Amino acid sequence: MCRVTASTTPARVTADVCPGVGRPFAAADGSLVRLRPAGRPVSVTGLARLLDLVAGQPDPSIQLTSRAALQLRGLPDPLPPEAVAVVREAGLLPSTTHELVRNVVASPLSGLDGRGHADVRPLVVTLDRALCATPALSDLGGRFLFCVDDGRGDVAGEASDLGVVALPDGAAVVTAGSSGRGWRLPLERVVPMLVELAEEFVTRRARGESVWHVDELASPLGPAPTASSHQATVSHVAHRPLGAVGPHAVVGVPLGLLTRGHVAGLARVTDHVLVTPWRSLVVVDGAGGLTDLSEAGLVVDAGSPWARLHACTGLPGCRRSAIDTRAMASQLAPNLESAPAPGRPGADRTARPVHVSGCERRCGTPSTPFVDVLAPGSLDEALAIVRRADASARTYPTAAPTADPATPTTGATHPARPPASATRQERP
Ligand code: SF4
Repeated sequence: MCRVTASTTPARVTADVCPGVGRPFAAADGSLVRLRPAGRPVSVTGLARLLDLVAGQPDPSIQLTSRAALQLRGLPDPLPPEAVAVVREAGLLPSTTHELVRNVVASPLSGLDGRGHADVRPLVVTLDRALCATPALSDLGGRFLFCVDDGRGDVAGEASDLGVVALPDGAAVVTAGSSGRGWRLPLERVVPMLVELAEEFVTRRARGESVWHVDELASPLGPAPTASSHQATVSHVAHRPLGAVGPHAVVGVPLGLLTRGHVAGLARVTDHVLVTPWRSLVVVDGAGGLTDLSEAGLVVDAGSPWARLHACTGLPGCRRSAIDTRAMASQLAPNLESAPAPGRPGADRTARPVHVSGCERRCGTPSTPFVDVLAPGSLDEALAIVRRADASARTYPTAAPTADPATPTTGATHPARPPASATRQERP
């Protein structure tokens, strides 16, 4: 559901520090680099080569982010040329000038499972090429997000700056921020419209509006709307299957950390995957390889406790953290009540994600309601938080949240990630 918010956010005064190959972020455990598939497939061979870059680390992995990007940690700064070459060969650096602005999230199963109103894969490719081919858009900023929903509603609820929702009649609605403004267009006109809107955003920033997001502009973006974005309202039912989806598969990556073992399992089944914003991968033509994928440690069952668990980076990678969030989440996993599989009794009430955060920033929280486990002092404390929230969800399955989403109560079942732009970034 589109949200309506006033443009009350103050202008930004700090620089955008979203990391990339050309601008690593200096984290506590070394340089962090974010790689952007921009909604396009990633080769399994490329993933294996990326893991080679971190092979000397104690637990080498590739992080999957909540904006369907990949991250490598603990790298040297500056990156050695051979590391940059590996990223480029993996297809993850098509442009050095526009690397940071290729932030595109798209319905990951579009064109593969017969759902949705359109196959948006060609549109995503065209958008990525148009972004990279428009010189002015290199100034868009690393926090600006495009979301392309094929009409099924799986990514339309993400806090995008510019959004697209395909309609049943072959058209689409382009949306700008959460204002409710929209433009109804034939699909082939969508990318030019997105580029025009993005260029206007860049122009206004250059004229002094120091903002990161469309919602922060002093006045609405774009021409007079031709449609309300509510015309594109979709159910936003969190249909995020795990396991077989027709001939394909969707597999969860525990805590969003893709390991050498996972990639070896993928390589036995497919040659490319799509990264979702939910720490999972679409394995093209992977349904026949579910056993291999499961044995590799990937999650193929929506009822698995790992399918519920999220954690921010935490210690040792983040200096702000009070705890090792991933160690805590790993301890939680075997103690967690399994989520009923979709369609089973209670699946809608107790399957809420559990997010372990190391501080009140709560980086990487899901965009759907979640159980908020904030820096627990012990496993018992964390378990108590989760059990209390699960019991509450069973008792009051439709209760409206009582807390202001911006000031959540630890241990509560937290409503969906608030739309405030301050929470929209992926913090390293
Ligand atoms: S929530 Fe973010 S800033 Fe806070 S500890 Fe976790 S990763 Fe670090």
